[in-house]
Amino acid sequence: MQTMTPQPVCVLGSTGSIGVSTLDVLARHPQDYSVFALTARERVAELAQQCRRFRPRYAVVLEAEKAAQLRRDFAAEGLVTEVLSGVEGLCQVASAPEVSIVMAAIVGAAGLKPTLAAVQAGKKVLLANKESLVMAGPLFMSALAQSDASLLPIDSEHNAIFQCLPYPCDNLVEAGVERILLTGSGGPFRTADPESLHRVTPDEACNHPNWSMGRKISVDSATMMNKGLEFIEACYLFHAAPADIQVVVHPQSIVHSMVQYRDGSLLAQMGNPDMRTPIAHALAFPQRIDSGVSALDLIAAGRLDFEAPDETRFPCLRLAREAMEQGGSAPTVLNAANEVAVAAFLEGKLPFTGIAGLIEKVMDSTNRVELADLEVVERADREARARAQEVLSELCGVHDGGVGDNSDDGQRPQTRSM
Ligand code: NAD
Ligand code: MG
Repeated sequence: MQTMTPQPVCVLGSTGSIGVSTLDVLARHPQDYSVFALTARERVAELAQQCRRFRPRYAVVLEAEKAAQLRRDFAAEGLVTEVLSGVEGLCQVASAPEVSIVMAAIVGAAGLKPTLAAVQAGKKVLLANKESLVMAGPLFMSALAQSDASLLPIDSEHNAIFQCLPYPCDNLVEAGVERILLTGSGGPFRTADPESLHRVTPDEACNHPNWSMGRKISVDSATMMNKGLEFIEACYLFHAAPADIQVVVHPQSIVHSMVQYRDGSLLAQMGNPDMRTPIAHALAFPQRIDSGVSALDLIAAGRLDFEAPDETRFPCLRLAREAMEQGGSAPTVLNAANEVAVAAFLEGKLPFTGIAGLIEKVMDSTNRVELADLEVVERADREARARAQEVLSELCGVHDGGVGDNSDDGQRPQTRSM
């Protein structure tokens, strides 16, 4: 694709797995895209390297002290990148008038405010941060409807569904869709002996068979909460009822999801499991650009298997479906409890098999409210995290209250993402 002036892109979470893959795709198309802003919470040295390479107008670091240090470093080097800090800095770069495209790739609830700011400012928003949609779906979708923004899914499954639907598609019935088939690999423990799961270590849980990702989403994949969050994400993105979506386990991660039509057609999007494909698709939509991903060799792949998910082994999938059926703040509570549980597991404070139990206890002891505005969402999120900390103390005697932050900066073994 050739355009006259490159489109300025803001990459929220540029040091993460999706952020690094996004920069890889952008670097292949310097005439079409420029980097306007890069942001990170930690791994500031890596952010600085990215700034030296892409020379963005802004860099944003969460903490003020780290931002001040980076500012001094850049001044000494004569680098023009201006350094901002905090959530305000993130919202500022996500909604800046100069920006055309925002990649929302912060992990967890922390991504909500800057992603919403980008939507409200009418940007083309590339949504990787599924947690923001799960925790605030109705608000998020109404902000989208009231703005000129467009939302393009980056999650490989949702990107696949998007590709298999007509565009635009506001009504599945009118489009002749019978159901959406959301595929998932089943994670690293699909066939493991259930008795062995309580001994699983964080590194084992993060060792996904097909994808290299940040640690939070890797644990979510191992519990299949990732598929649960994606189930909720798909309901909001595609205006689907829970009954319209069927989860199908597909261990090879080659079919990224499917759409079943009334006439018997089943459309699938396939490709090698590499996030640069959905990133390139969403960046250039409706054009197609090179992503750096090699073509899928079906003969080498050999076979494609499909099976039903085992909700006894993976209760998180059931919990997510129930949360979506309950509506209101139930998905907000589910997401918050999951973030606390996953962080506790990664810190060695909760066994792998305790994750679902903790979430269920929080869900069972929290009232549902309607998500009237952002304040209600934030209160529901805060209260669910506090309740999750209490349950954690009851279960494991953890009292420090510091669990619940899923940034994996500095811990992920592979920097090259897929
Ligand atoms: P990651 O942990 O590798 O990267 C997260 C990024 O967010 C980092 O740049 C980090 O510095 C930043 N960050 C973390 N906490 C922050 C905070 N409190 N404030 C501001 N910035 C913060 O995560 P990832 O694997 O790249 O995933 C990012 C998002 O994309 C997640 O929501 C995930 O579910 C989604 N996603 C990822 C993949 C994948 O292949 N990695 C696939 C589909 C969807
Ligand atoms: Mg996915």
